[in-house]
Amino acid sequence: MLNDLKELMEIESIMGKPESGAPFGKKMRKTLDLFLSKANSYGLKTENMDGYCGYAEVGSGKSCIGILCHLDVVPVSDGWSYPPFSLTLDDGYLYGRGVADDKGPAVAALHVLKRLKDENVKLNHRVRLIVGCNEENGSACMKYYVSRGEIPVASFVPDADFPIIGSEKGILHLKVTVPADSRLTDSVEYLCAGDRPNVVPDKAVLRFRKDSEPYNRIKETSGGADANAIFRTESVCTFLAENGYDLNDFSAHLFGDYAEIETRGIAGHAMAPQKGDNAIFKLIAFLKALGGQNCGETVGKVYDSLCSLKAPEKLGIACKDEKSGALTLNFGAVKLEKDRLVLTLDLRLPLCADKDVIVKNIMNAMPEHSACEVLHHAKNLYADENGTLVKTLLKVYAETTGGETYIVKSGGGTYARELPNAVAFGPTFPNAETNIHNADERLKLGDFEKLGEIYYRAVIELDKALK
Ligand SMILES: [Zn+2]
Repeated sequence: MLNDLKELMEIESIMGKPESGAPFGKKMRKTLDLFLSKANSYGLKTENMDGYCGYAEVGSGKSCIGILCHLDVVPVSDGWSYPPFSLTLDDGYLYGRGVADDKGPAVAALHVLKRLKDENVKLNHRVRLIVGCNEENGSACMKYYVSRGEIPVASFVPDADFPIIGSEKGILHLKVTVPADSRLTDSVEYLCAGDRPNVVPDKAVLRFRKDSEPYNRIKETSGGADANAIFRTESVCTFLAENGYDLNDFSAHLFGDYAEIETRGIAGHAMAPQKGDNAIFKLIAFLKALGGQNCGETVGKVYDSLCSLKAPEKLGIACKDEKSGALTLNFGAVKLEKDRLVLTLDLRLPLCADKDVIVKNIMNAMPEHSACEVLHHAKNLYADENGTLVKTLLKVYAETTGGETYIVKSGGGTYARELPNAVAFGPTFPNAETNIHNADERLKLGDFEKLGEIYYRAVIELDKALK
């Protein structure tokens, strides 16, 4: 089982350029082929659905039970202590990109099917493990499956937390384009951070043009040696300290043609922005500190409304409800494109949130002539707590782990919202930290081994309960 996982993790299955037969890039297709060939070698029936997704299946029966996993992963940033595209076992933990999200669970599920086949277990339903290749970028894979494939009578998705996810927030990705004022465009020639809405960016970079006012200030304060002296000038250091920033997260370099500022934070998943540390906030804070009252409308408004964990309150869009939790906002990316600043935001919406009001309030806080485009919108998922699926899976969880059962409200989005009668079930145990979407993604070896047992029992009990 570990060998299967290792081989899968060695392919960098990050979304790539579409090619014929490989809608999400060559490496993604290679990963899918490898997974299905393994399933085939275990005697399972397989089908590759045009490189979008595929499935492995065991058993006979008119209808099927689904297990839904994904083989794509998010890119890696700096800060890994282990090689990200390899499997490392250290001190009882497995490390590497995808080990928890979601290649580890996919391999655990594959071995559940293998075990059912090897033990010749007789079930009333077929068991179909569907693996997709675009979960991290909008789940076009599962939409493709749903439009062509057989819909299982019930499905679980090993791509979130135990005991079970009863509610998933709505997801809204926005691209907000803000006119950059001359204060910004005259001095900044490059500004870029983050490349995805659903990740908290851990690095942000900007370059000031040679001989621009900030360039000259950095040069003067450096004394010809230490460009970082700019952060110790009174106005800058006071503003940054007042706003709780650590100067160690900032660095400056003077080059012949430009001066570069870099800020660093901690990556994380957009559904819990407070667990990360957003490098964009720091970069814009520096611009604001440097310009003071005259930082310009673009920087002023973007900083005041978006560069803080309190952004939902500041924008007047904060809300929460009992069934689905609180709204969150992640400022995932920013880029200067000619005379426009392009901001990418990821919002996770409780049932009570109104998408149109949210867009309106965000736009009200932006400078005039800003524009907003909805890149992606997925509705909330709310599972029936008293339905067979939820009750059966919770019973299996309690019996196999002895753990307390309750229903988790999540900001994460999984395949569960793509098809009827599906819920996310594991693989992260309560209080375990798996660092998904971050450096040193990990999964306890003991937990990985438990997954196989839980999912095996889940299939057997669902088969009985669904009749
Ligand atoms: Zn995932």
